Amino acid sequence: MRQLRRDFIKERWVVISSERGKRPLQFPEQSRYRPRGDPSTCPFCPGNENMTPPQVYVVEGDGGWKIRVVPNKYPILSPGEDGERIGEIPFISAPAKGVHEVIIESPSHFDTIGSMEPFQVLLILKTYRERLKDLKGKYPFAMVFKNRGPEGGASLSHPHSQLIASGFLPDSVERELRVFEEFRERGICPVCLLMNREVESERLVFQTENFAVFCPYFSAFPFEVWIVPKKHLPAFEEAEGPLLEELAGVYRKTMGALDRALDFPSLNMMLRSRPFSGGKYHWRMEIIPRLTKPAGFEWGAEVFVNIVPPERAALELRRNL
Ligand SMILES: [Zn+2]
Ligand SMILES: [Zn+2]
Repeated sequence: MRQLRRDFIKERWVVISSERGKRPLQFPEQSRYRPRGDPSTCPFCPGNENMTPPQVYVVEGDGGWKIRVVPNKYPILSPGEDGERIGEIPFISAPAKGVHEVIIESPSHFDTIGSMEPFQVLLILKTYRERLKDLKGKYPFAMVFKNRGPEGGASLSHPHSQLIASGFLPDSVERELRVFEEFRERGICPVCLLMNREVESERLVFQTENFAVFCPYFSAFPFEVWIVPKKHLPAFEEAEGPLLEELAGVYRKTMGALDRALDFPSLNMMLRSRPFSGGKYHWRMEIIPRLTKPAGFEWGAEVFVNIVPPERAALELRRNL
């Protein structure tokens, strides 16, 4: 069976192809995340701190640092790019102003979120919160994300995530804010609406008191998983300690299940939160294992073809909790 499903949050169609998903799940070996590189020459390993730009934030613990945040050596956006927007409409250019940081998630080169101590995962989440709080008011928008493995776009295998704050709102974010506004006029939040339905469905992976973990109805990628706070919370940086503690366990459990089900896939994690410039929102973590490659039709038509129905993905993940 092939079915079109509407992603009413990103406003796009997804093709769910369950016929192809009936085949045994086999994904290419090169998409796996395997820790590689030599800790003695890894710029993120303890002892090599001089190989990164000076840290902007650190969490110290017994026997050394537990987390370091450093400016990206090859930033996409940088604070130094200043000046005016120039050019005549529609040929506009502007300085690529922003902040691009690397969050070194652990001193251990071979750690994964799924295998770390829960306390270490909590430190990572608290670091996200502190960095976001610090950048709030300085930039209109920021996003925390994680690239893991060759297909996830990671150039270093040491566990790390990244944060980009930008001087502009990405078009996709503006579009999403408009969707939230349209739903608000009907008295609902689109993420609450989705979550309330998914917790009652076979797409639920697991839930805790304050979080729902599910493969959304309109998953664009095989094994796409969302971690959503059950309460309507707009901004991640406003999350309080106990909630982050619960999230640390939930995030760790989810990543562990993905690693067991898919043998350490390359992946991306995006922490979506309300832009600093405001608007209606509901924060969440979206995780997409990079098992298949979007190709011509996906890029050309912006219609994603998902060969593993989310119902099946959720079942596999539940088996691997
Ligand atoms: Zn390392
Ligand atoms: Zn909501």
